[in-house]
Amino acid sequence: MTFEQIGLHASLLKALTEAGYTKPTPVQQQAVPAAIAGRDLLVSSQTGSGKTAAFMLPALHKFASDAQYDAPAAGAKTPNQERQSARSRGDRPRFQAAKPKMLVLTPTRELALQVTTATDKYGIFMRRIRAVSILGGMPYPKQMQLLSKNPEILVATPGRLIDHMESGKIDFSELEILVLDEADRMLDMGFIDDIEKIVDATPTTRQTMLFSATLDGVVGNMARRITNNPMIIQIAGSSAKHENITQKVHFVDDMSHKNRLLDHLLRDETLDQAVIFTATKRDADTIADRLNIAGFAAAALHGDMHQGARNRTLDGLRRGQVRVLVATDVAARGIDVPAITHVFNYDLPKFPEDYVHRIGRTGRAGRNGVAISLVNHAESMNVKRIERFTKQLIPVEVVVGFEAKRSAAPRSSAKPGGWKPGDGRSNSRSGTGTGYAGSGKPAQRTFSKPNATPAREGGFNKEGGGYKGNRSSEGSRRSFSDR
Ligand code: ADP
Ligand code: MG
Repeated sequence: MTFEQIGLHASLLKALTEAGYTKPTPVQQQAVPAAIAGRDLLVSSQTGSGKTAAFMLPALHKFASDAQYDAPAAGAKTPNQERQSARSRGDRPRFQAAKPKMLVLTPTRELALQVTTATDKYGIFMRRIRAVSILGGMPYPKQMQLLSKNPEILVATPGRLIDHMESGKIDFSELEILVLDEADRMLDMGFIDDIEKIVDATPTTRQTMLFSATLDGVVGNMARRITNNPMIIQIAGSSAKHENITQKVHFVDDMSHKNRLLDHLLRDETLDQAVIFTATKRDADTIADRLNIAGFAAAALHGDMHQGARNRTLDGLRRGQVRVLVATDVAARGIDVPAITHVFNYDLPKFPEDYVHRIGRTGRAGRNGVAISLVNHAESMNVKRIERFTKQLIPVEVVVGFEAKRSAAPRSSAKPGGWKPGDGRSNSRSGTGTGYAGSGKPAQRTFSKPNATPAREGGFNKEGGGYKGNRSSEGSRRSFSDR
């Protein structure tokens, strides 16, 4: 299927050709025609599969087919021009609420900016379509100025949007399309009440499209509540397989070992650009400083930085001036730079989903990538959790000269049929099991240790359930919010 066959508006086809898109990705093949037909959508597919265009192309197609946004009719005034002339006549002393036609909700500022950039790219040959981002951290006067232009498309993080709604700056009575991008993530961040409030403020006649890594549980319930007879599109399982990404675990003894190994791995000649994930903002800063001193063009990215600094860092990354980005989870969400060949987990993520999102920063746009986790032995349980979540074993690799002194603690599980992904894991050199990555099926692996028990899938569901329980007891992650 081609974009022409889908029947997209000519201005979009031109923009896609210019963007180098030759054919729709699988998720686009399903989503775009259905959305053009007016269907609500519930979509789960892996990161990097082209979801932004899956919702933005049908929306822009709809606007392009609306004469007002296509070629200008002689003498006709757009709503914005009407406003402007009203203003120059002095008719409009007070602020008039923006009345967007489309709203895209995203969990983070970076993702919102990425959606706006993609919209500008796809809509470049359309007239008078304006997409603006309303984000936490952006100065209010600037936002007021953006809203006063009455943009057709708003891309927003929920917290800040609520503030504007409550002060009457936005009126959703003319909203036609609502998109929730990375809905699971927004719920994880504690945005559920805000989302419900926003949804309630929009007309029930709207078209709703929801994107999420999973359509189970809380997200699934909300998804069904806010959509109307949705078409459900599931391209990959809830835990994306990332078959083009080689995953590895390296065991380390302590911080100094971890730092030395990281320095070594960063000198890999196949490394083009890299993202290193840390647990804390302070670690991101410290490691970036240290790497800079060691001669790497490194920069930190985290939620404590001003928006301007974050944007400059991301620009530097896109342009290749920043080779190594040291980031926290929230800040790195949505980064889409094809030259990122390596992702490092300096610290393991708190939630297994974050592991999937982190490694998805590499292997973009059909390329291959490498994802390396630096783990001390006390953390092997966390590796196990990730393996259960992704249903893949992560092979252990050892670099000669950087061996950990301690070998992995033997993991014993008395439960018959319990899956023991780490059994027999060893950090001796022959302990690499590159045969598994991506197979999705724990199977025989070659271990140096005698009597290694082959891993089994048996205990999956049981143990996986335990993880969910832990997580809800973690409470709200609102501290990450973009307010
Ligand atoms: P997702 O939201 O599923 O993670 P994105 O929408 O961010 O994915 O797209 C990932 C990358 O793929 C982007 O660089 C985007 O420009 C590119 N892309 C999207 N659709 C196509 C296509 N049809 N052909 C080529 N590249 C595409
Ligand atoms: Mg996306």
